[in-house]
Amino acid sequence: MSQHAIAGFNGPDQPQPSVYDTCIRCGLCLPSCPTYLETMTETSGPRGRISLIKAVGESRLDLLSPGFVEQMWQCLDCRACEAVCPSGVRYGQLVESARTQIERARATREPERRNALARSVLRRLFGDGGLLRAAARILRFAQRTRLIGLARLFGAGDAARLAPPVPNVFFVARGQVIHAPRPAGLAFLHAGCIMPLLFANVHEATLRMLRRAGLSVIVPEDQGCCGAIAVHAGDVDFARRLAKRNIAAFERSDADVYVVNAAGCGSTLKEYRELLAHDGAWAGRAARFAERVRDITEVLDAMELGPPERAIDAAVTYQDACHLVHAQRIAAAPRRLLARVPGLRLVEMEESAVCCGSAGIYNLTQPEMAARLQRRKVAAIRRTGATVVATANPGCAMQVAAGLRDAGYAATVKHVVELLDDAFGGAS
Ligand code: SF4
Ligand code: SF4
Repeated sequence: MSQHAIAGFNGPDQPQPSVYDTCIRCGLCLPSCPTYLETMTETSGPRGRISLIKAVGESRLDLLSPGFVEQMWQCLDCRACEAVCPSGVRYGQLVESARTQIERARATREPERRNALARSVLRRLFGDGGLLRAAARILRFAQRTRLIGLARLFGAGDAARLAPPVPNVFFVARGQVIHAPRPAGLAFLHAGCIMPLLFANVHEATLRMLRRAGLSVIVPEDQGCCGAIAVHAGDVDFARRLAKRNIAAFERSDADVYVVNAAGCGSTLKEYRELLAHDGAWAGRAARFAERVRDITEVLDAMELGPPERAIDAAVTYQDACHLVHAQRIAAAPRRLLARVPGLRLVEMEESAVCCGSAGIYNLTQPEMAARLQRRKVAAIRRTGATVVATANPGCAMQVAAGLRDAGYAATVKHVVELLDDAFGGAS
């Protein structure tokens, strides 16, 4: 290809030389990178990917060259490399903006591609809670009538295989207020998009635990998806629209803290400051919002909860969600909370912080690598002998549960908050 035909990054949301040039190529990140561990290939590791991003940034490699596109999408955006990097390379910012650049270039150069359709579906589903609820009802019908095979006809076979049984009742954010007896503050519960449909029980457990911790809770109707899926998919314009909706809803609620029980959502909400940093009218509001976002494990870990009512006699292993441990650097709080439960024996698995292959919609877009990482995770869980896997993210819960089912290993997967709620008396 002649030099003039090479197209590098263009317009807003480019990976910045001030970020990729801080990589000193030391390689300390390589043993933490799941795709490097699986392939032992330089280009499938953070250092190789940063070199590719730099090459496109310097117009030595075309933005839409197959190798570059493949690596930007093979990366899980799990941020394990970022957490161990001695130079502080903000790798997540690099790969997310590289994906945005790819998707914008594709939309311009190849408007008829399937990606345009996929983007349109993603925007409709995650922009409108009603449509997502309708999709969940169809999935529930298919699961109960054993018509799940039909999902394959619509290209949704992998999604249907991963989904847990869709519950009878969804959690609906409709402005409910749950009063604590002597409230120490008011919390906004982030309901999200997938959690209310597939993990309504986790939201109910979260409300009960917040109340026990002395926080009144409000669940405003006018909130919505955090935008994590859009950021991962390279659609930051849509993510910004979703962010503004959540910021405005939070401001109207008068809450002191914005509580989230899904690690992937929490890391995106905490990064609204960066997402809207160049939007004059919103930059300050986004920064104030981001300061008030807390993962549920952070909130409960800092509160006096009193002694649990019940023991849980089980060996439990904890799966670190990438966007909790690497992006938010929260590892000790969930473990301390689990340690408060009498009878519960916490057994650490090897590589608990290596991605399970879920990573947003990675298990749908990169099924082969996702399956390899899922098998790796299930093998690590089996070696612990645990009968319960605790996690703090719905994507991990689905990916690990599906892997355990496929392997025929009888362990249940629960959110940390569900286990705590059980110990503190549950719904009773
Ligand atoms: S650890 Fe950081 S500086 Fe070292 S190679 Fe990886 S990204 Fe570059
Ligand atoms: S984000 Fe995860 S998969 Fe991507 S390069 Fe870093 S460690 Fe590897």
